[in-house]
Amino acid sequence: DYIYVIVLTSKNHSEDILECMVAGADDYITKPFIAGELKARIFAANRIVELHEKFISAQNQLKNQATHDFLTGLWNRSGILDILNKELGRAQRDDTSVAVMMGDLDKFKAVNDTYGHNAGDIVLKETARRMTAALRPYDGFGRYGGEEFLIVVPHCDITFAEEVAQRIRRAVCKTPIICDEHELSVTMSMGVTAVCGASPENADVIIHAADAALYVAKESGRNRVQIVDSPVLTGCSA
Ligand code: GH3
Ligand code: MG
Ligand code: MG
Repeated sequence: DYIYVIVLTSKNHSEDILECMVAGADDYITKPFIAGELKARIFAANRIVELHEKFISAQNQLKNQATHDFLTGLWNRSGILDILNKELGRAQRDDTSVAVMMGDLDKFKAVNDTYGHNAGDIVLKETARRMTAALRPYDGFGRYGGEEFLIVVPHCDITFAEEVAQRIRRAVCKTPIICDEHELSVTMSMGVTAVCGASPENADVIIHAADAALYVAKESGRNRVQIVDSPVLTGCSA
């Protein structure tokens, strides 16, 4: 919060006043003060404080919009990539493993084509909700693209990552998603990898590995999880 400081002083030389303003005061008033003048100055101070609050709130809103997906409320692509970089940095320092998962809805275009774009949006929102419920609060989860979701799980090796991914996959397809009078059966394929000793510079290679595994999951029938353990972190680019 902005703290507005009015100095009340018996010193009224211009150098004294200058000194208190340089030290951070917003305003000053000399003794003996007139109550009406102090009131008027507090009134003006209120205007400044209110403007400051509005500015901070608008700034926070902009920051939120820049990092979040409007439809699902999840992190957007740049937000989740930021989290991936941070977690890779942390894992490098702590020498722990990070799991990265790319999930993509199966045959989602057919939902849009058959039931319309609004129904597609409802499916995306409900999918995001189900996946969030299957994750822990400190896992990173964002909408990477249209119907693609990126998950970053700290302190997670490939064995645990596969369990988590299966839990998410089951959560997505457990019951049909109700949309108007329709019951839509939705499934998700996932590509999963886990890395130890990686650095933020390896983010592209790791995403590429998860993406390649996702492609295999799609090719081998969809509604399944494909893992790839410890992708080669050097000499490979996304
Ligand atoms: P696959 O199983 O191979 O992933 O097939 P698919 O149909 O899911 O994949 P494809 O890439 O062909 O289609 C993705 C569709 O996602 C196409 C696009 O219209 C839809 N989509 C992307 N973003 C949105 C969105 O915000 N809302 C809606 N309703 N649809 C979206
Ligand atoms: Mg898809
Ligand atoms: Mg896709």
